[in-house]
Amino acid sequence: MVRKVAVIGGGVIGITTAVVIAEHLDNVQVTVISDKWSPDTTGDGSAGYWAPYLLGDLPPDTLREWCKKSSEIFQEIFQSAKAVEYGVGLLPVYCIFSYAPTDDSVFNDLYLDYRPMTKKELSVFPSKYCYGISITSFFAECTKLLPALMKRIEKRDGRFIEKKIYSFSELAGKYDVVINCTGIGARNLVPDPEVTPIRGQVIKVRAPWMKHCVIIDDDYYVIPNSEEDAKILRDWVGLRPYRSTPRVERESIKTKKGNIDVIHNYGHGGSGVTVSWGCAFEVLGLLREALEDPYSSGFRSKM
Ligand SMILES: Cc1cc2nc3c(=O)[nH]c(=O)nc-3n(C[C@H](O)[C@H](O)[C@H](O)COP(=O)(O)OP(=O)(O)OC[C@H]3O[C@@H](n4cnc5c(N)ncnc54)[C@H](O)[C@@H]3O)c2cc1C
Repeated sequence: MVRKVAVIGGGVIGITTAVVIAEHLDNVQVTVISDKWSPDTTGDGSAGYWAPYLLGDLPPDTLREWCKKSSEIFQEIFQSAKAVEYGVGLLPVYCIFSYAPTDDSVFNDLYLDYRPMTKKELSVFPSKYCYGISITSFFAECTKLLPALMKRIEKRDGRFIEKKIYSFSELAGKYDVVINCTGIGARNLVPDPEVTPIRGQVIKVRAPWMKHCVIIDDDYYVIPNSEEDAKILRDWVGLRPYRSTPRVERESIKTKKGNIDVIHNYGHGGSGVTVSWGCAFEVLGLLREALEDPYSSGFRSKM
């Protein structure tokens, strides 16, 4: 029997989740429903830098697990012949600070390289920046990553429907399980007032001579220009889907058209790209439980 799973949301969280489900579960038909697609999602505008940021008070063990899984997969992509198609590459980063940074992170060892900057490295920056960390991380450009992943969903017979969902009741009885990856949209759809937009801005300039990313006091990332006339390619303002803790959990929702099994995966703040794969695999586990659960709403609807 083929089980039907709908993923609401065509952003980096929804598309990554859909590809993991489509490639790991046989006899499951995945349909992604979204009112916007790449290149018009939040991830498309983001910097795509692999580093946890604005993730609320997520328990350290969970944070580490999500980051570890995601970094392993970005590393696999980087090492494959598809790295360019997926827009995944290595990123050397100088994080400079005008204050002593706290070093209590549970994920620093997941970077390819993480070490204090030498005095010589620090000397090229203004003297008020007296602390620095040199990191080697990844970047993932969603404008390339998402179309590449969507092709993989299609290969596994996945479908795409362009539509805004106003209530889960629209999907009750049509799908065994619904995965909610609506980012900031969860604020209205669930509804979940805990989802808070946090504004951010990315200006993309053409400056191919810049090989290092520089992050200043953990708040601004600047790619300094050596010329004043670097061409602005895009000036974009986006809203990070912040929540006190990202929500990855299963819930049975009562609707006018019956109960529906929903697995939420939203509220990833400033780290949706960074934790995307880790969260997608957590959803896969929850989905396996839901599909095997004799009391799940989808199962009952077939009895
Ligand atoms: C300026 C800025 C810089 C950032 N830089 C980074 C970075 O360097 N690294 C990093 O990891 N993260 C970064 N982020 C955060 C990252 O972009 C987000 O965490 C991530 O994109 C969230 O992904 P998402 O799929 O949950 O949400 P979205 O990309 O917003 O996708 C949500 C999807 O759901 C659809 N949708 C919503 N509601 C409905 C509905 N009711 N019916 C149908 N469809 C619906 C939308 O159309 C969309 O396709 C940045 C964010 C910003 C704003």
